[in-house]
Amino acid sequence: MQWIDIGANLTHDAFDLDREAVIAQAHEAGVMQIVVTGADVAGSAMAAELARGHPGRLFATAGVHPHHAQQFEPTQLPALRALLGCAQVVAVGECGLDYFRNFSPRAAQLRAFEWQLQLAADSGKPLFLHQRDAHEDFIAALRAWGARLPRAVAHCFTGGERELDAYLALGLSIGITGWFCDERRGAHLRSLVGRIPVGRLMLETDAPYLLPRDLSPRPASRRNEPRYLPHIGEAVAHARGETVEYCAAHTSAHAQEFFSLSKPGAPKAAI
Ligand SMILES: [Zn+2]
Repeated sequence: MQWIDIGANLTHDAFDLDREAVIAQAHEAGVMQIVVTGADVAGSAMAAELARGHPGRLFATAGVHPHHAQQFEPTQLPALRALLGCAQVVAVGECGLDYFRNFSPRAAQLRAFEWQLQLAADSGKPLFLHQRDAHEDFIAALRAWGARLPRAVAHCFTGGERELDAYLALGLSIGITGWFCDERRGAHLRSLVGRIPVGRLMLETDAPYLLPRDLSPRPASRRNEPRYLPHIGEAVAHARGETVEYCAAHTSAHAQEFFSLSKPGAPKAAI
């Protein structure tokens, strides 16, 4: 079976001592391709550099997470634009709105989000979206841009039925993480996940965050890794009433199509 992790923060310093081993172990576990999340401009450049060293296996996003929106200056836009011109950079993000923590003021978040929606419209690269406790503003921004935006995925979906239906109606794809495996916080997701059509569902670890709570044995470090993606996939398959093989196949096929992932050993020509 082959899986694709569409969101792993592999440039995080939690991986500084053994990053290459983590990538190799993911591969051994059947996680054939990984999209490395960029959360600010410097981190996006690091993600692109890491992906460059693993053609066809690792890819990157380039963007600014809402937590970092306040530090995001217009002078940084050309650097993001340049990264989005790299073949291994396959999406704009992660970007969006997070009113749960409000690490950046809402006005700064909205401004940074708008800039990145513009980058997506200009580059044609898909959006890797983050939203927490900001549903109304988030939906309003996406609606305002409408058909000018390329395709988009709501990463780490943890919302309820109303949010899911609104996302699906807007044409978004949905990313499911190990949050799903949390017996308390993820319970509602297990009854909702069957509403996501084949061809709109992708899987992600969000490593090193969100270690699946029901993983056994649990690593003492509590660090999540892309090699645990099949564990999430099994839980999702079970809740959807699908075989694990079918779930791996359709989520991987959608990820490859969504991010236009090149095959290992056949990196796309630079744009
Ligand atoms: Zn996120």
